[in-house]
Amino acid sequence: MGNLSGRTALVTGASRGIGRAVAERLAADGALVAVHYATDEAEAKEALAGIEAAGGQGFVLGAEFGTEGDVDRLVAGLREGLSGRPLDILVNNAAVGHTGSIDSATPQDFDRVFAVNLRAPFFLTQRVLPLLSDGGRIVNISSSVTRIAVSHEIVYGMTKSALDTMARTLAHGLGARGITVNSVAAGVTDTDMIAPAPVPRRAAVSAATAMGRIGQPADIADVVAFLASDDARWVTGHVLDATGGMCLG
Ligand code: NDP
Repeated sequence: MGNLSGRTALVTGASRGIGRAVAERLAADGALVAVHYATDEAEAKEALAGIEAAGGQGFVLGAEFGTEGDVDRLVAGLREGLSGRPLDILVNNAAVGHTGSIDSATPQDFDRVFAVNLRAPFFLTQRVLPLLSDGGRIVNISSSVTRIAVSHEIVYGMTKSALDTMARTLAHGLGARGITVNSVAAGVTDTDMIAPAPVPRRAAVSAATAMGRIGQPADIADVVAFLASDDARWVTGHVLDATGGMCLG
């Protein structure tokens, strides 16, 4: 039995990458995990099959953020999958990247990235709060670009800074219910999101970390698992840097 035995969790964007690793880890720790995806149902089902093959439990649910009724669809699927049980852990992970400086970002880019990365998790959290158990956990996946200026990721970085503000503000209000709210500022991690990065860029990023490498999804998932566990009951309103020591000096 893992330390999350009997708990339930929702991980957004769990069909691939970091979200999938988080879902696998929380399920391995004993939680029943809602594996959310946007459009790739087959990937989500594959992720769930992996969880079940390892002895875990979960269900899949789809909702594309940034489309009409996105959060309504997700919450309806969540309620159905939980069958009356409360939610214990919400991981706001799903997001899209965006490359473009202040000179090139368009209003359309801005609205799309904010709709997926900020508006959806904000209203999802709002809608999930009544389902969240006392002593529950909210973990947002943020980014090192809130600390390190990356001019071509300005719009993306702004969505993550706002997510951090959301976490700190909610943490203040939800402590009375024993609910913790934290952000994990992930560094560059080997997923589809960075797949277009050329080899020299990857080498430069690796060299900029104290650990000398790019992160793996499990590096982030293990940190989320800590924040989701009882061991992290006294940590709230915090942004935890999980970058392998990116740009320390
Ligand atoms: P991936 O691109 O590998 O996976 C993205 C996940 O989000 C998929 O499950 C995808 O679903 C889902 N998703 C994409 N668009 C939408 C949408 N419009 N609505 C709902 N869900 C959507 O991303 P990563 O694993 O790399 O990123 C996970 C988190 O980590 C994000 O918050 C990201 O900002 C953050 N992060 C990542 C870093 C990195 O270097 N990889 C660095 C710092 C932070 P589907 O499969 O259906 O498309």
